Amino acid sequence: MTTTTLLFRDDAYATACEARVLGTTPEGGVILDRTVFYAQGGGQPGDVGAIVRANGDRFDITNTVYGADRSQIVHLVGPEAASRFEGGETAELQLDWPRRLRRMRVHTALHLLSVVLPYPVTGGAIGEGDGRLDFDIPDAGLDKAEITEKLNALIQRDAPVTERWITDEELDANPGLVKTMSVKPPRGSGRVRLVEIEGIDLQPCGGTHVRRTGEIGTVAITDIEKKGKQNRRVRMSLVD
Ligand SMILES: [Zn+2]
Repeated sequence: MTTTTLLFRDDAYATACEARVLGTTPEGGVILDRTVFYAQGGGQPGDVGAIVRANGDRFDITNTVYGADRSQIVHLVGPEAASRFEGGETAELQLDWPRRLRRMRVHTALHLLSVVLPYPVTGGAIGEGDGRLDFDIPDAGLDKAEITEKLNALIQRDAPVTERWITDEELDANPGLVKTMSVKPPRGSGRVRLVEIEGIDLQPCGGTHVRRTGEIGTVAITDIEKKGKQNRRVRMSLVD
């Protein structure tokens, strides 16, 4: 089975691409050999946008998800639209870029939030211009204004954000590297994608990020909820 090449992994700023149709799904999805559309996962929603056939027919993509074995990416257009696509034809993908960029800004800001609040993270989600992380802490006397100030100070450092792959062997040879990570890398897949915010954070992550923290813009902590005895949900929003 042909897998989908994940172009967003190497270039989160790619907004369009040509791709070949590998097949369709009964749920109304189009499977392509390559994509700039991020598939729903890791708390980040799937991308939306459009797909344009060679004859000019254009269909909205309402969500992007992984196929059953996660080797292919499914672009949801609805059963009627999907039935028009034929295996082997080429089509153009066009990302809803303003929406994706907001998600990239929120996602990168959540990395910074995990630095400001260095506690175990039990969950997280990214919405439209906002996001949240759940922390495993009983009560840390969290203060919205103080966290907001620290977050914006990190953003204003305009630190470069870079991604690189590292093999399990390289990880084993550098125990100090693992020790510096806020989240322990998963083992067994042979290699791990690391996201580094220079001088601030290093952690394994498969998501999409902005190139520099300055691109996040101003953020604010909007709410801190108690979710059970051992959990605090911290909500953050882009201010613009
Ligand atoms: Zn990330």
